[in-house]
Amino acid sequence: MEFALFCTRVNFLAFLLALSSPCKFIQSPMDFGPLKLLQTTNTASLDFGRIYFNTPSAVLRPQSPEEISVLLSLLSASSFCEATVAARGAGHSINGQAQALNGIVVEMDSLPSSIKIHRSADRTFGPSYADVSGGTLWVELLKETLRVGLTPRSWTDYLYLSIGGTLSNGGISGQTFKYGPQISNVIQLDVVTGSGELVTCSPSKSSDLFFAVLGGLGQFGIITSARILLQEAPHKVKWVRAFYDDFETFTKDQELLVVSMRDKVDYVEGFIVLNEGSLHSSSFAFPANMSSIFPQLFQQNTSSNIHYYCIEFAIYDQHDKKGFINVGQVLEEISNKMSFMSSLVSSVEVPYFDFLNRVNIEEVNLRRIGLWDVAHPWLNMFVPKAGITKFRDLMLQTISASPTFEGPILLYPILKDKWNSNSSAVLPDSEDNVVYIVGMLRSANPNTCSQQCLENLLQQNHQIAKTAIDPGMGIGGKQYLPHYTQEEQWRAHFGGKWQRFLARKSDFDPQNILAPGQAIFKRKY
Ligand code: FAD
Repeated sequence: MEFALFCTRVNFLAFLLALSSPCKFIQSPMDFGPLKLLQTTNTASLDFGRIYFNTPSAVLRPQSPEEISVLLSLLSASSFCEATVAARGAGHSINGQAQALNGIVVEMDSLPSSIKIHRSADRTFGPSYADVSGGTLWVELLKETLRVGLTPRSWTDYLYLSIGGTLSNGGISGQTFKYGPQISNVIQLDVVTGSGELVTCSPSKSSDLFFAVLGGLGQFGIITSARILLQEAPHKVKWVRAFYDDFETFTKDQELLVVSMRDKVDYVEGFIVLNEGSLHSSSFAFPANMSSIFPQLFQQNTSSNIHYYCIEFAIYDQHDKKGFINVGQVLEEISNKMSFMSSLVSSVEVPYFDFLNRVNIEEVNLRRIGLWDVAHPWLNMFVPKAGITKFRDLMLQTISASPTFEGPILLYPILKDKWNSNSSAVLPDSEDNVVYIVGMLRSANPNTCSQQCLENLLQQNHQIAKTAIDPGMGIGGKQYLPHYTQEEQWRAHFGGKWQRFLARKSDFDPQNILAPGQAIFKRKY
């Protein structure tokens, strides 16, 4: 439908009157021609963090990108109203980033899901890709591409996140060292800017908007469609866990895998084995006897406070130029160069889909015992190679006060040169190409953790993040999925990229309408 024609169908006057001060939508659901705003929904003020519950004044469940465009055009043209707009993908933020206090939440899951796959017969004619709508979940994209033997290259650990939501941050997992984050694997976007303009952008067309939106925390536009790079999908995955009792050896082996072995290995992560619970996380495929070894080791070491570490890596059974690779041979070649504790290595072979969908099995288990929909005081940090040992010490000293740490601590290296510095995403300003991503993914079990306990966990996170980013502490960290409330904190977070971020904001969302839950800018009207 022509945009102009569409606009004339909106009852403009009624809309503007309703938006006029005090600009609340609390009386009744409103129907402005084709724009139907709901008073609220069960999901609009809820996210995975369950720490913030900001209530919007209205919710739009759009049926097309044009509806989002009409909403933003009207809001940016109205000088009466201070309503903000937050796109909500799957709502898996931790700190209310997809919420809009007294504003309008646009629930992206209502956009008709569309996945169009283009298979390239020959790489010389360009890559295979999928055009996918912004509210679609990654798991839906995976299922659809696998039907034709293709797959996206770069993942998050959990697949029930929306395309638009992860592209607004980065999208990191064990494939990031090899292909870069998800934002490095997109070649075109359809975006509705804060002024309501519908723009198709790419590295060669409206490139400033393209790069602004990638990792842009929802500040510059709402992604309604993305073109995602695809490659041939493997059938099976050899998934390996190798254990260490020495942090230096653990990180040295991780770096060996992502730097020297990067052509042979397809996935590299790692975690700290703090307690028995650490071994159960996403470990559905591993034999139970692995965890039976550890209680003895924990008992032996209770006084010495030794921690164990685990590298997870995977090899896909796919073609190389000479035909199918011999996974067993590659595994042997890799293992011979590593220095894990000799008796503590285990490998399994699982279907590719199950491997990628491993966290969902954890989700099903946690839902069964009522521990999925609980508060999640998570902290994610990027830490340069040079600061990782200090950061490990800081983290373990701080959390040793909490004897029953619930949730995994992920720690693995990525490579900076796989990130496009034109994007809005922020990495540490370190010299070294190797940077670690560390995720302290805690759950606050309501049976054992009161509101005060949750506050304490949040305070610990705050303390760790503050120390890790303090230039005087020699760690040089940056938050991933950042949460700040004051402008000077955001300025420090973006560092040398702050002026560019400001300029892009004034180009694409000059009235600061978008993504108020990030608390970076105040609405202008
Ligand atoms: P939402 O929470 O809905 O939104 C996040 C932000 O993006 C908000 O500011 C929102 O306004 C904006 N936004 C949403 N949709 C759009 C859109 N279409 N256009 C523009 N802006 C939009 N991250 C990783 O990188 N790697 C992981 O392995 C990983 N694992 C996770 C596992 C779990 C269980 C959870 C809860 C989170 C995980 N995350 C991971 C974090 C996750 O990638 C981010 O929280 C992401 O934003 C979630 O996507 P979402 O669709 O739920 O976004």
